[in-house]
Amino acid sequence: MALVNEHYLKLQKNYLFADIAKKVNAYKVANPKARVISLGIGDVTRPLVPAVIDAMHKAVDDMAHKETFHGYGPEQGYLWLREAIVKNDFLPRGIRLDPSEVFVNDGAKSDTGNIGELVRWDNSLGVTDPIYPVYIDSNVMCGRAGVLENGKWSNVTYMPCLETNDFVPQIPDHRVDMIYLCYPNNPTGTVITKEELKKWVNYALKNDTLILYDAAYEAYITEPHIPHSIYEIKGARKVAIEFHSYSKTAGFTGVRCGYTVIPKELTAVTIDGKERIALNTLWFRRQCTKFNGTSYISQRAAEAIYSPEGKEQTKAVIDYYMGNARLMYDALKKLGFRVYGGVNAPYLWVKTPDGVDSWKFFEQLLYGAQIVCTPGVGFGPSGEGFVRFTSFGEREDCKEAMQRLAKWMKA
Ligand SMILES: *Cc1c(COP(=O)(O)O)cnc(C)c1O
Repeated sequence: MALVNEHYLKLQKNYLFADIAKKVNAYKVANPKARVISLGIGDVTRPLVPAVIDAMHKAVDDMAHKETFHGYGPEQGYLWLREAIVKNDFLPRGIRLDPSEVFVNDGAKSDTGNIGELVRWDNSLGVTDPIYPVYIDSNVMCGRAGVLENGKWSNVTYMPCLETNDFVPQIPDHRVDMIYLCYPNNPTGTVITKEELKKWVNYALKNDTLILYDAAYEAYITEPHIPHSIYEIKGARKVAIEFHSYSKTAGFTGVRCGYTVIPKELTAVTIDGKERIALNTLWFRRQCTKFNGTSYISQRAAEAIYSPEGKEQTKAVIDYYMGNARLMYDALKKLGFRVYGGVNAPYLWVKTPDGVDSWKFFEQLLYGAQIVCTPGVGFGPSGEGFVRFTSFGEREDCKEAMQRLAKWMKA
Protein backbone atom coordinates (compact mmCIF):
# COMPACT_ATOMS: atom_id res chain seq x y z
CA MET A 1 0.00 0.00 0.00
CA ALA A 2 1.46 3.33 -1.01
CA LEU A 3 0.78 5.97 1.61
CA VAL A 4 0.46 9.47 0.28
CA ASN A 5 2.76 12.30 1.39
CA GLU A 6 0.22 13.99 3.62
CA HIS A 7 2.09 17.30 3.51
CA TYR A 8 0.87 17.76 -0.06
CA LEU A 9 -2.68 17.74 1.27
CA LYS A 10 -1.94 20.86 3.31
CA LEU A 11 -1.24 22.94 0.20
CA GLN A 12 -3.83 25.54 -0.56
CA LYS A 13 -6.04 24.24 -3.36
CA ASN A 14 -6.60 27.47 -5.20
CA TYR A 15 -3.77 28.70 -7.30
CA LEU A 16 -3.66 32.51 -7.62
CA PHE A 17 -3.30 32.75 -11.40
CA ALA A 18 -6.04 30.16 -11.98
CA ASP A 19 -8.41 32.25 -9.84
CA ILE A 20 -7.53 35.34 -11.86
CA ALA A 21 -8.04 33.54 -15.18
CA LYS A 22 -11.47 32.35 -14.04
CA LYS A 23 -12.59 35.88 -13.16
CA VAL A 24 -11.21 37.32 -16.40
CA ASN A 25 -12.96 34.61 -18.44
CA ALA A 26 -16.26 35.27 -16.71
CA TYR A 27 -15.92 38.94 -17.63
CA LYS A 28 -15.04 38.14 -21.24
CA VAL A 29 -18.03 35.81 -21.65
CA ALA A 30 -20.37 38.53 -20.39
CA ASN A 31 -18.60 41.25 -22.44
CA PRO A 32 -17.42 39.56 -25.64
CA LYS A 33 -16.54 42.84 -27.39
CA ALA A 34 -14.35 44.27 -24.64
CA ARG A 35 -10.59 44.39 -25.25
CA VAL A 36 -8.99 43.38 -21.98
CA ILE A 37 -5.39 44.53 -21.38
CA SER A 38 -3.33 42.27 -19.15
CA LEU A 39 -0.83 43.91 -16.83
CA GLY A 40 -0.98 40.82 -14.66
CA ILE A 41 1.26 38.34 -16.42
CA GLY A 42 4.64 37.55 -14.92
CA ASP A 43 5.91 36.25 -18.25
CA VAL A 44 8.00 37.98 -20.89
CA THR A 45 6.49 38.71 -24.33
CA ARG A 46 9.36 39.88 -26.59
CA PRO A 47 10.96 37.20 -28.80
CA LEU A 48 14.48 35.84 -28.25
CA VAL A 49 17.19 38.18 -29.54
CA PRO A 50 19.04 37.40 -32.84
CA ALA A 51 22.33 36.44 -31.13
CA VAL A 52 20.49 33.75 -29.14
CA ILE A 53 18.51 32.53 -32.14
CA ASP A 54 21.70 32.19 -34.22
CA ALA A 55 23.38 30.20 -31.46
CA MET A 56 20.36 27.91 -31.15
CA HIS A 57 20.23 27.28 -34.91
CA LYS A 58 23.91 26.45 -34.87
CA ALA A 59 23.43 24.12 -31.89
CA VAL A 60 20.65 22.31 -33.73
CA ASP A 61 23.02 21.82 -36.67
CA ASP A 62 25.65 20.45 -34.26
CA MET A 63 23.11 17.88 -33.14
CA ALA A 64 22.49 16.87 -36.77
CA HIS A 65 26.00 15.58 -37.44
CA LYS A 66 27.84 12.60 -35.97
CA GLU A 67 31.02 14.67 -35.40
CA THR A 68 29.36 17.47 -33.43
CA PHE A 69 26.42 15.61 -31.88
CA HIS A 70 26.02 15.98 -28.08
CA GLY A 71 24.39 13.36 -25.87
CA TYR A 72 24.37 13.60 -22.09
CA GLY A 73 26.42 16.57 -20.96
CA PRO A 74 27.97 17.15 -17.53
CA GLU A 75 25.24 17.21 -14.84
CA GLN A 76 26.62 20.51 -13.57
CA GLY A 77 26.52 22.15 -17.01
CA TYR A 78 29.14 22.59 -19.74
CA LEU A 79 32.36 24.17 -18.55
CA TRP A 80 32.30 26.79 -21.34
CA LEU A 81 29.00 28.14 -20.00
CA ARG A 82 30.09 28.07 -16.36
CA GLU A 83 33.28 29.91 -17.32
CA ALA A 84 31.28 32.53 -19.20
CA ILE A 85 29.06 33.00 -16.13
CA VAL A 86 32.00 33.44 -13.75
CA LYS A 87 33.73 35.83 -16.15
CA ASN A 88 30.72 38.00 -17.07
CA ASP A 89 28.30 37.95 -14.14
CA PHE A 90 30.74 37.98 -11.22
CA LEU A 91 34.31 38.99 -12.07
CA PRO A 92 33.36 42.56 -13.15
CA ARG A 93 31.81 43.02 -9.66
CA GLY A 94 34.97 41.88 -7.92
CA ILE A 95 33.57 38.44 -7.11
CA ARG A 96 35.86 35.47 -7.75
CA LEU A 97 34.06 32.19 -8.23
CA ASP A 98 35.39 28.89 -9.44
CA PRO A 99 33.30 27.24 -12.20
CA SER A 100 32.85 24.28 -9.83
CA GLU A 101 30.75 26.59 -7.65
CA VAL A 102 28.23 27.13 -10.48
CA PHE A 103 25.46 24.65 -11.30
CA VAL A 104 23.60 25.19 -14.58
CA ASN A 105 19.93 24.24 -14.35
CA ASP A 106 16.63 24.37 -16.23
CA GLY A 107 15.54 27.57 -14.50
CA ALA A 108 15.47 29.02 -11.01
CA LYS A 109 12.12 27.56 -10.01
CA SER A 110 13.48 24.00 -9.96
CA ASP A 111 16.45 24.83 -7.76
CA THR A 112 14.70 27.27 -5.40
CA GLY A 113 12.08 24.56 -4.96
CA ASN A 114 14.50 21.63 -4.56
CA ILE A 115 17.38 23.12 -2.61
CA GLY A 116 15.61 22.39 0.70
CA GLU A 117 16.51 18.70 0.23
CA LEU A 118 20.02 19.50 1.45
CA VAL A 119 18.94 20.43 4.96
CA ARG A 120 16.83 18.64 7.56
CA TRP A 121 13.06 18.87 7.37
CA ASP A 122 12.84 20.43 10.84
CA ASN A 123 14.91 23.55 10.23
CA SER A 124 13.02 26.77 10.90
CA LEU A 125 12.26 29.08 8.04
CA GLY A 126 12.05 32.82 7.40
CA VAL A 127 10.42 34.53 4.43
CA THR A 128 9.70 38.09 3.44
CA ASP A 129 5.99 38.76 3.09
CA PRO A 130 4.67 39.13 0.35
CA ILE A 131 6.72 36.51 -1.53
CA TYR A 132 7.17 34.27 -4.58
CA PRO A 133 4.95 31.30 -3.55
CA VAL A 134 7.58 28.62 -4.41
CA TYR A 135 9.58 29.41 -1.26
CA ILE A 136 6.71 28.47 1.01
CA ASP A 137 4.96 25.74 -0.95
CA SER A 138 8.15 23.73 -1.49
CA ASN A 139 8.66 23.73 2.28
CA VAL A 140 5.05 22.77 2.94
CA MET A 141 5.61 19.72 0.72
CA CYS A 142 8.28 18.29 3.01
CA GLY A 143 6.59 19.26 6.26
CA ARG A 144 9.05 22.02 7.12
CA ALA A 145 6.47 24.81 7.12
CA GLY A 146 4.44 23.22 9.94
CA VAL A 147 0.68 23.71 10.07
CA LEU A 148 -1.47 26.54 8.77
CA GLU A 149 -2.92 28.74 11.52
CA ASN A 150 -4.87 31.89 10.62
CA GLY A 151 -3.34 32.05 7.17
CA LYS A 152 0.25 31.61 8.40
CA TRP A 153 2.48 28.53 8.71
CA SER A 154 3.54 27.68 12.24
CA ASN A 155 7.25 27.04 11.51
CA VAL A 156 7.67 30.10 9.29
CA THR A 157 8.79 33.53 10.47
CA TYR A 158 7.11 36.15 8.31
CA MET A 159 9.02 39.36 7.74
CA PRO A 160 6.50 41.93 6.53
CA CYS A 161 7.52 44.30 3.73
CA LEU A 162 5.28 47.31 4.11
CA GLU A 163 5.08 50.97 3.19
CA THR A 164 5.93 51.77 6.78
CA ASN A 165 9.32 50.02 6.61
CA ASP A 166 10.04 51.06 3.00
CA PHE A 167 9.60 47.38 2.07
CA VAL A 168 12.84 46.53 3.87
CA PRO A 169 12.12 43.52 6.09
CA GLN A 170 13.13 43.71 9.70
CA ILE A 171 15.78 41.21 10.79
CA PRO A 172 14.22 38.59 13.11
CA ASP A 173 14.88 39.03 16.82
CA HIS A 174 15.39 35.27 17.15
CA ARG A 175 17.40 32.63 15.37
CA VAL A 176 16.04 31.26 12.08
CA ASP A 177 17.82 28.38 10.31
CA MET A 178 17.12 29.33 6.71
CA ILE A 179 15.93 32.55 5.10
CA TYR A 180 14.70 33.32 1.59
CA LEU A 181 15.46 36.73 0.13
CA CYS A 182 14.56 37.90 -3.38
CA TYR A 183 16.06 41.13 -4.74
CA PRO A 184 15.03 42.91 -6.90
CA ASN A 185 11.78 41.67 -5.42
CA ASN A 186 8.87 39.92 -7.00
CA PRO A 187 6.12 41.05 -6.40
CA THR A 188 6.94 44.48 -4.89
CA GLY A 189 9.64 45.53 -7.40
CA THR A 190 11.67 46.98 -4.53
CA VAL A 191 15.42 46.52 -3.94
CA ILE A 192 17.86 46.22 -1.07
CA THR A 193 20.91 48.45 -0.54
CA LYS A 194 24.38 47.10 0.22
CA GLU A 195 24.12 48.45 3.76
CA GLU A 196 20.86 46.57 4.42
CA LEU A 197 22.11 43.38 2.77
CA LYS A 198 25.23 43.54 4.91
CA LYS A 199 23.01 43.38 8.01
CA TRP A 200 21.46 40.14 6.71
CA VAL A 201 24.83 38.56 5.99
CA ASN A 202 26.05 39.50 9.46
CA TYR A 203 22.89 38.07 11.04
CA ALA A 204 23.47 34.83 9.10
CA LEU A 205 27.13 34.64 10.12
CA LYS A 206 26.19 35.20 13.76
CA ASN A 207 23.26 32.76 13.85
CA ASP A 208 24.59 30.12 11.43
CA THR A 209 21.65 30.84 9.10
CA LEU A 210 21.51 29.70 5.49
CA ILE A 211 20.43 32.51 3.12
CA LEU A 212 18.72 31.49 -0.12
CA TYR A 213 19.11 34.54 -2.34
CA ASP A 214 17.00 34.76 -5.49
CA ALA A 215 18.57 37.21 -7.97
CA ALA A 216 16.25 36.41 -10.91
CA TYR A 217 15.70 40.13 -11.67
CA GLU A 218 19.30 41.24 -11.23
CA ALA A 219 19.55 42.36 -14.88
CA TYR A 220 16.80 44.94 -14.31
CA ILE A 221 18.80 46.98 -11.81
CA THR A 222 19.38 50.49 -13.16
CA GLU A 223 20.73 52.32 -10.11
CA PRO A 224 24.51 51.95 -9.69
CA HIS A 225 24.67 51.45 -5.90
CA ILE A 226 22.25 48.49 -5.76
CA PRO A 227 23.95 45.08 -5.31
CA HIS A 228 23.54 42.56 -8.17
CA SER A 229 24.79 39.63 -6.11
CA ILE A 230 24.86 38.84 -2.41
CA TYR A 231 28.54 37.90 -2.86
CA GLU A 232 29.29 41.61 -3.17
CA ILE A 233 28.98 41.51 0.63
CA LYS A 234 31.95 40.25 2.59
CA GLY A 235 31.32 36.94 4.33
CA ALA A 236 28.36 35.98 2.10
CA ARG A 237 30.26 33.06 0.57
CA LYS A 238 30.00 31.31 3.93
CA VAL A 239 26.25 31.69 4.31
CA ALA A 240 24.48 32.19 0.97
CA ILE A 241 23.31 30.22 -2.03
CA GLU A 242 22.35 32.42 -4.98
CA PHE A 243 19.88 31.67 -7.77
CA HIS A 244 20.01 33.20 -11.24
CA SER A 245 17.73 32.73 -14.22
CA TYR A 246 17.87 33.64 -17.90
CA SER A 247 14.06 33.72 -17.94
CA LYS A 248 13.65 37.43 -17.25
CA THR A 249 17.23 38.40 -18.23
CA ALA A 250 16.90 37.13 -21.81
CA GLY A 251 13.34 35.92 -22.31
CA PHE A 252 14.17 32.25 -21.62
CA THR A 253 10.88 31.37 -19.92
CA GLY A 254 10.21 28.91 -22.76
CA VAL A 255 13.86 27.90 -23.37
CA ARG A 256 14.61 26.94 -19.74
CA CYS A 257 18.05 27.74 -18.38
CA GLY A 258 19.48 29.34 -15.27
CA TYR A 259 22.13 28.60 -12.65
CA THR A 260 22.74 28.29 -8.94
CA VAL A 261 25.89 29.32 -7.09
CA ILE A 262 27.00 27.28 -4.08
CA PRO A 263 30.39 28.49 -2.81
CA LYS A 264 32.83 25.88 -1.52
CA GLU A 265 33.00 27.54 1.94
CA LEU A 266 29.26 27.20 2.52
CA THR A 267 28.49 24.49 5.06
CA ALA A 268 25.72 23.12 7.26
CA VAL A 269 26.27 21.31 10.52
CA THR A 270 25.45 17.68 11.42
CA ILE A 271 22.82 17.12 14.11
CA ASP A 272 25.42 16.15 16.72
CA GLY A 273 27.12 19.47 16.01
CA LYS A 274 30.44 17.72 15.35
CA GLU A 275 30.95 18.18 11.66
CA ARG A 276 30.40 20.83 9.01
CA ILE A 277 29.39 19.55 5.57
CA ALA A 278 29.98 21.47 2.32
CA LEU A 279 26.64 21.96 0.57
CA ASN A 280 28.42 22.26 -2.79
CA THR A 281 29.43 18.59 -2.52
CA LEU A 282 25.94 17.51 -1.49
CA TRP A 283 24.27 19.44 -4.31
CA PHE A 284 26.68 17.95 -6.85
CA ARG A 285 25.78 14.50 -5.56
CA ARG A 286 22.10 15.38 -5.69
CA GLN A 287 22.27 16.68 -9.26
CA CYS A 288 24.19 13.60 -10.46
CA THR A 289 21.41 11.43 -9.05
CA LYS A 290 18.31 13.40 -9.97
CA PHE A 291 19.24 15.69 -12.87
CA ASN A 292 20.80 14.82 -16.21
CA GLY A 293 21.67 18.33 -17.26
CA THR A 294 20.16 21.21 -19.19
CA SER A 295 19.88 20.63 -22.94
CA TYR A 296 22.93 21.41 -25.07
CA ILE A 297 20.83 23.76 -27.21
CA SER A 298 19.63 25.77 -24.20
CA GLN A 299 23.17 26.06 -22.85
CA ARG A 300 24.51 27.29 -26.21
CA ALA A 301 21.63 29.81 -26.21
CA ALA A 302 22.65 30.98 -22.72
CA GLU A 303 26.30 31.29 -23.74
CA ALA A 304 25.28 33.61 -26.59
CA ILE A 305 23.83 36.12 -24.09
CA TYR A 306 27.42 36.86 -23.03
CA SER A 307 28.68 37.72 -26.55
CA PRO A 308 28.99 41.46 -27.30
CA GLU A 309 25.91 41.33 -29.59
CA GLY A 310 24.02 39.20 -27.08
CA LYS A 311 24.69 41.68 -24.28
CA GLU A 312 23.62 44.63 -26.37
CA GLN A 313 20.48 42.97 -27.70
CA THR A 314 19.26 41.63 -24.35
CA LYS A 315 19.86 45.02 -22.77
CA ALA A 316 17.67 46.63 -25.45
CA VAL A 317 14.80 44.27 -24.56
CA ILE A 318 15.17 45.00 -20.85
CA ASP A 319 15.23 48.74 -21.65
CA TYR A 320 11.97 48.30 -23.57
CA TYR A 321 10.27 46.67 -20.56
CA MET A 322 11.71 49.26 -18.21
CA GLY A 323 10.41 51.99 -20.53
CA ASN A 324 6.95 50.50 -19.97
CA ALA A 325 7.59 50.53 -16.23
CA ARG A 326 8.59 54.20 -16.28
CA LEU A 327 5.59 55.17 -18.37
CA MET A 328 3.18 53.44 -16.00
CA TYR A 329 5.00 54.65 -12.89
CA ASP A 330 4.72 58.30 -14.02
CA ALA A 331 1.08 57.93 -15.11
CA LEU A 332 0.03 56.25 -11.86
CA LYS A 333 1.82 58.85 -9.76
CA LYS A 334 0.14 61.62 -11.72
CA LEU A 335 -3.22 60.02 -10.97
CA GLY A 336 -2.40 60.17 -7.28
CA PHE A 337 -1.57 56.51 -6.64
CA ARG A 338 1.10 55.46 -4.20
CA VAL A 339 3.49 53.43 -6.36
CA TYR A 340 6.59 51.39 -5.46
CA GLY A 341 9.13 49.44 -7.51
CA GLY A 342 9.44 49.89 -11.27
CA VAL A 343 12.89 51.50 -11.13
CA ASN A 344 15.12 48.43 -10.71
CA ALA A 345 12.51 45.77 -11.47
CA PRO A 346 9.76 45.15 -14.04
CA TYR A 347 7.06 45.23 -11.35
CA LEU A 348 5.01 48.10 -9.93
CA TRP A 349 3.48 47.64 -6.50
CA VAL A 350 0.48 49.92 -6.30
CA LYS A 351 -1.52 50.83 -3.21
CA THR A 352 -5.25 50.53 -3.79
CA PRO A 353 -7.21 53.77 -3.37
CA ASP A 354 -9.38 54.40 -0.27
CA GLY A 355 -8.24 51.25 1.51
CA VAL A 356 -10.12 48.97 -0.90
CA ASP A 357 -8.94 45.36 -0.60
CA SER A 358 -6.78 43.75 -3.31
CA TRP A 359 -9.46 41.56 -4.88
CA LYS A 360 -12.07 44.34 -4.85
CA PHE A 361 -9.71 46.70 -6.67
CA PHE A 362 -8.81 43.92 -9.10
CA GLU A 363 -12.52 43.66 -9.99
CA GLN A 364 -12.99 47.42 -10.19
CA LEU A 365 -10.13 47.63 -12.69
CA LEU A 366 -11.41 44.68 -14.70
CA TYR A 367 -15.02 45.89 -14.90
CA GLY A 368 -14.30 49.63 -14.98
CA ALA A 369 -11.25 49.82 -17.25
CA GLN A 370 -10.80 46.29 -18.68
CA ILE A 371 -7.35 46.05 -17.10
CA VAL A 372 -6.03 42.90 -15.44
CA CYS A 373 -3.61 43.23 -12.53
CA THR A 374 -2.55 40.77 -9.82
CA PRO A 375 -4.08 41.13 -6.33
CA GLY A 376 -1.25 41.66 -3.85
CA VAL A 377 -2.82 39.50 -1.17
CA GLY A 378 -2.22 36.50 -3.45
CA PHE A 379 1.50 36.81 -2.57
CA GLY A 380 0.97 36.79 1.19
CA PRO A 381 -0.93 38.51 4.00
CA SER A 382 1.19 41.69 3.82
CA GLY A 383 0.22 42.11 0.17
CA GLU A 384 -3.34 43.05 1.14
CA GLY A 385 -4.29 46.52 -0.05
CA PHE A 386 -1.90 46.37 -3.03
CA VAL A 387 -1.96 45.16 -6.62
CA ARG A 388 0.96 44.30 -8.88
CA PHE A 389 1.32 45.67 -12.41
CA THR A 390 3.93 44.10 -14.69
CA SER A 391 5.73 45.88 -17.49
CA PHE A 392 6.16 42.83 -19.73
CA GLY A 393 3.48 43.93 -22.21
CA GLU A 394 3.39 46.03 -25.38
CA ARG A 395 4.17 49.75 -25.09
CA GLU A 396 0.88 50.72 -26.76
CA ASP A 397 -1.10 48.54 -24.34
CA CYS A 398 0.61 50.13 -21.35
CA LYS A 399 -0.24 53.59 -22.72
CA GLU A 400 -3.84 52.69 -23.39
CA ALA A 401 -4.23 51.05 -19.98
CA MET A 402 -3.06 54.26 -18.30
CA GLN A 403 -5.49 56.34 -20.41
CA ARG A 404 -8.35 54.04 -19.46
CA LEU A 405 -7.38 54.24 -15.83
CA ALA A 406 -7.39 58.07 -15.95
CA LYS A 407 -10.84 58.03 -17.53
CA TRP A 408 -12.16 55.54 -14.98
CA MET A 409 -10.84 57.70 -12.11
CA LYS A 410 -12.68 60.74 -13.48
CA ALA A 411 -15.98 58.91 -13.90
C1 LIG B 1 10.37 34.34 -12.77
C2 LIG B 1 11.04 34.07 -11.48
C3 LIG B 1 12.06 33.12 -11.39
C4 LIG B 1 12.55 32.38 -12.60
O1 LIG B 1 11.99 31.15 -12.76
P1 LIG B 1 12.51 30.23 -13.93
O2 LIG B 1 12.20 28.84 -13.44
O3 LIG B 1 13.97 30.45 -14.09
O4 LIG B 1 11.74 30.57 -15.16
C5 LIG B 1 12.68 32.91 -10.16
N1 LIG B 1 12.33 33.62 -9.09
C6 LIG B 1 11.37 34.57 -9.14
C7 LIG B 1 11.06 35.36 -7.93
C8 LIG B 1 10.69 34.80 -10.34
O5 LIG B 1 9.73 35.73 -10.38
